[in-house]
Amino acid sequence: MIVLKNVFKEYKTKKNNKVQALNDISLILPLSGMVFICGKSGSGKSTLLNLIGSLDTPSSGEILFNNKSLVKLKKKELDLYRNKYVGFIFQDFNLFEDLTVFQNINLVSSLQGKNINKNDIQDYLKKVNLCDFEDRKINELSAGQKQRIAILRSISKDSKIILCDEPTGNLDEENSIQIFNLLKELSKEKLIIVVSHDSKSAYKYADRIINLDEGKIISDEQINIIQNDNDEFKLEKTKLSFKNSLFLALNNLKNKKIRLIITSIIITVILSSIGISFMLTNFDVNKTHAETMVREGESRINIRKQVIGENLTIDNPILTFTSEEINEVNNKLNNNTINVKKIVENNRYLNFEFGDIPFDIDIEYDNTLYAFYALSSNCVKFLNINSVDNLKVIGKKEINENEIIIKKVLADHIIKNGIKIYELNDNDKRIKTDYFPKDYNDLITSNKDIVFGSVSLKIVGIIDDDISKYDELKSIPASKAQKENNKLYNEFISKYRYNMSDVIVNPNIYNHLKLSNNNVLDLSFYKYSYVYKNNEFFTYDGIEILNKNISVFNGNKNIDINKLNDNEIILSSSMVDVLTNNEFTKSFSKYYDEEFKKYNSRVKERDEKIITEENKLLDDPNYVINIIPEIEPLNYEEMYHDYLIKFIKEKEFIGSEIILDISDNYLRTQSQKSNTYKLKIVGYSIDSNNSYVSNNVLESYMRENYEISDVYFDETDVIKLETIFNSFPLKKSKYISETMFSNTIITLEVTVNYIKKIASYISIGLLIFALIVIINFIATSINNNKKHIGILKSLGTHDKDIFKIFYLESFIVGLISYIFASVITFFGCNILNNIISSDLFYKTMPIIFNVKVLIFMLFFVFIIVTLASLIVIKKIVNKKTIDVIYVK
Ligand code: ADP
Repeated sequence: MIVLKNVFKEYKTKKNNKVQALNDISLILPLSGMVFICGKSGSGKSTLLNLIGSLDTPSSGEILFNNKSLVKLKKKELDLYRNKYVGFIFQDFNLFEDLTVFQNINLVSSLQGKNINKNDIQDYLKKVNLCDFEDRKINELSAGQKQRIAILRSISKDSKIILCDEPTGNLDEENSIQIFNLLKELSKEKLIIVVSHDSKSAYKYADRIINLDEGKIISDEQINIIQNDNDEFKLEKTKLSFKNSLFLALNNLKNKKIRLIITSIIITVILSSIGISFMLTNFDVNKTHAETMVREGESRINIRKQVIGENLTIDNPILTFTSEEINEVNNKLNNNTINVKKIVENNRYLNFEFGDIPFDIDIEYDNTLYAFYALSSNCVKFLNINSVDNLKVIGKKEINENEIIIKKVLADHIIKNGIKIYELNDNDKRIKTDYFPKDYNDLITSNKDIVFGSVSLKIVGIIDDDISKYDELKSIPASKAQKENNKLYNEFISKYRYNMSDVIVNPNIYNHLKLSNNNVLDLSFYKYSYVYKNNEFFTYDGIEILNKNISVFNGNKNIDINKLNDNEIILSSSMVDVLTNNEFTKSFSKYYDEEFKKYNSRVKERDEKIITEENKLLDDPNYVINIIPEIEPLNYEEMYHDYLIKFIKEKEFIGSEIILDISDNYLRTQSQKSNTYKLKIVGYSIDSNNSYVSNNVLESYMRENYEISDVYFDETDVIKLETIFNSFPLKKSKYISETMFSNTIITLEVTVNYIKKIASYISIGLLIFALIVIINFIATSINNNKKHIGILKSLGTHDKDIFKIFYLESFIVGLISYIFASVITFFGCNILNNIISSDLFYKTMPIIFNVKVLIFMLFFVFIIVTLASLIVIKKIVNKKTIDVIYVK
């Protein structure tokens, strides 16, 4: 039984006027019989019907169904109520036009949790006289047939109430009669409420006729009395099955194929880009480095030292290791490194001295040497023979303390260019001369004293490694190879640049090397300047510790000095000119010019005198000639020296103060970036280009005779390699690792980071774009299917289920795109790796396709689909049921 108690319904129009659609309606309706609601248009008939069907809620008053107040039910419960108890018959049928009869009926049943098959509906079809219509599409039926199917839908649902809003409005008379007869038949067991203004039919079929006017009941005629009844009110939880949701979603998609394809393509492109961006973000420089090493079969890792915080490149060859630092590296590595030493004499690294390049040879000669570039920038490095395994040697492998084994590259270079050796001349004096070995054998057996600073070494062996691969480089000019970015050349350089001049030595070699003292400040490491009378001066003259006898002008005379106090300095004579901004040179040349003129005029005068004397002799043969004394030529050196002494005295340099400022060019010693010494000029050194200070001033700048320059080891395990690269990165660390791929990897990192940055911006843009595309897709779909939503709502479908259909629809689009994008990403990854590697010396695979990408992309699809669905679908679902059903 339905009871309406003092029900009011007020609408607000758009212009904010109030319309009283129902005005204090009270009614009791039993759950069977046929009730006609009649009245003029706008009298409130539909409103009343909608309130009973819970499509809308009253402004005030109460509606009870089997004693249960509908007003108090939640939206979700109202859906269930409609689903279970109410069937609607609309003027325009409200069927799924592109589904078959069976599918329409099946949908309703499944909403009630019932499973029906085609046989089951035969009975129903018989009832409405439409046998064998189950597979016909609704849009192939006539209006009358459609309305019968609509009624059948309510019957199949077994709803207690069937609400009919002008059910015959679109039908001819014959069909109308059929429909009314059918409804009359049903009214035996159900409550049929018909809104109609067809009073003729009302009187023919109705058990009761209610007349409305201006929202009020103006008459209520009982034609057949029907007993009031009450049943239990019980709602059952139902939901649209996944199968049916999917079916409806697919049906929506089927109808708009072009839209589906275009949307899928766009989402595929977006998804692929996002996938690739993700892979880029996952790029791990150390992992790629390790993998490249293993793939290329390389195992050598050099550890280098860097000055942190300064912009120094890994090419800096000057930073060497202290023994504490070697310990630090070994501890960090959990391994012992092989250490290579550079030899220092007079503060400079020692190198071999190669032969003089003949002038008459092609101008490109010095560049055609395949080893030239690397050798010229390297110095000899000592590697103890006991630290080298499996050494294959041409010649001797057992070496004495003055013997060395060299690399083939170096041997080739020596054969082509010659090398300086010490030889005794006829006076038993040691002189340097060029030696050009004929071949490897000649080089290792000739027993020559190879010049190595002030001492000599003997080459007795050549490491027999196969470098024939690089033979063609011997005929290509290095400049040409560099310009053309020759791959082989680049490989050669990256492989040999730091170890070309590694030589294998007997550990006792250090006893053999009696190297000179290191007492000259090395200008390649340190920069210094003088401040004199508040002006700063630079010079290329050396600066040296005074530990021998030198001749010095002390302001009065020349004396010998061999020791200085800590605050004293002896300047080189050229400093006189430096400290006066070339005033000395200018004034001396003026003086010399004048003296030269004077000398010339004296010579001229003498010549004239001689001529006069000769003429006198011609006139008088007995004339005794006066001997005119010769004019002494000018002695430049003496004049220079005397003038210098005079100048020094005049300017009062001696005894004045000068500031020596020494700074560390390469920050070798990070602790002493710059040091300043206030010194007294005690004299000028007459015959040296160096200035002199005491031991205490320069001691800290003097280097040991041996420096550990290279630290290396071999590793072939990819996991261990990765760990090593993690603790010894390629840059920005005190200790960096370096392999033949490091330059490639550094370039790669820069490239990848650049692409990554762009990709991340694009990705954000694409994310928004994807969202817009999906929103548009769903919105269009909803717009196209508004009517369907209305039907589903009137059938009592939950909002959640409607959400599910559209969510599934967009998810299918996402899924299709996802599948394509996965394929594109897989191949795109390879293509991108090739593009990135194309400019590099070695092939690298920075981007790795893995399951993570697939998961990420799926997650992404899920996020955008959900986000878009929530934004769009929520809006329609949250509308009042009545507003969804009656779409204009
Ligand atoms: P009927 O079905 O008898 O033609 P309705 O129930 O549709 O009448 O309408 C009753 C009154 O309420 C009318 O004046 C109509 O204009 C008004 N009305 C109906 N629905 C709305 C609505 N959604 N907004 C504003 N006014 C409405």
